Amino acid sequence: MNQVSQIIRVTIWGLCLNLFLVGLKLAVGIVVGSAALVADAVHSISDLFTDIVVILGIRLSSRPADEDHAYGHGRFETIATSLIGAMLVGAGVFIAWKSGFSLYRGEINIPGYAVVVVAAVSILSKEWIYRVTQRVARRVGSSALHVNAWHHRTDALSSVAVLFGAVAGLLGWGYGDQSAAIVVGVMVSIVGLNALSKVFVELTEGSISGEEQRSIAEAIQGVPGVKGWHRLRTRLVGREVFMDVHLLVDSRLSVAEGHRICSTVESAIMQTVQRPINIVVHCEPERDPDATDQKRSSQQ
Ligand SMILES: [Zn+2]
Ligand SMILES: [Zn+2]
Ligand SMILES: [Zn+2]
Repeated sequence: MNQVSQIIRVTIWGLCLNLFLVGLKLAVGIVVGSAALVADAVHSISDLFTDIVVILGIRLSSRPADEDHAYGHGRFETIATSLIGAMLVGAGVFIAWKSGFSLYRGEINIPGYAVVVVAAVSILSKEWIYRVTQRVARRVGSSALHVNAWHHRTDALSSVAVLFGAVAGLLGWGYGDQSAAIVVGVMVSIVGLNALSKVFVELTEGSISGEEQRSIAEAIQGVPGVKGWHRLRTRLVGREVFMDVHLLVDSRLSVAEGHRICSTVESAIMQTVQRPINIVVHCEPERDPDATDQKRSSQQ
């Protein structure tokens, strides 16, 4: 089984678990009237959508660029992420506001043992899927999958809040459920804001992290024949990186030799960066007497 299908398979397992948790939390939450459990169900619904975007994103970005989208299909993921992010912020604020209002009116709500059981099932199953996903992430060396695994673990935190609220209720504190719902609502909003900030970086042509840029620079410098480089630019399109750079090579080299150095640089960068990357290398002679290109770039 190749890398992509291993990643998709473990993500589908996560999706099935989330689907099961949505049904369980919604059904029990509505029947026993637990605001916290319904809020947790909303979180699981958002996880479900995120899983779908991840799977479609992997499918789309492993699909080659076509005539309609010559730079690939990464922006579809950006659009989907922005929709999910906005939905999460809205849902989180609504949940927190609704439960806050219920607290304000002094409503007592003790949903009972069923909520404790469902929260425990959610926490344990999320810990299990975290371990399964982490194992696959390590095996195929996928950082995106590593992030997914940690998402599963943070999902459990939301159910931990529900558990605390329900136990507090059983111990006689009538406001535990609404308080837990507010905590979950805030968590859901934060997840949404994180997604939106990622979209914001992408749509403003933000660069990749300084750490990643430094490792790219090291990879370029490590290639024999490279006399220098400048104008390294990076930007993000979905899960893919787009970058271009100017390379300086010995001006006496043939076109074929210069091109070989450029290709070596490209594969060195691809080995360094742990995600799909599209590279354009512009090759220019070192110490060119009429180096218009170097004048132009120093003016910018
Ligand atoms: Zn989540
Ligand atoms: Zn080439
Ligand atoms: Zn240049």
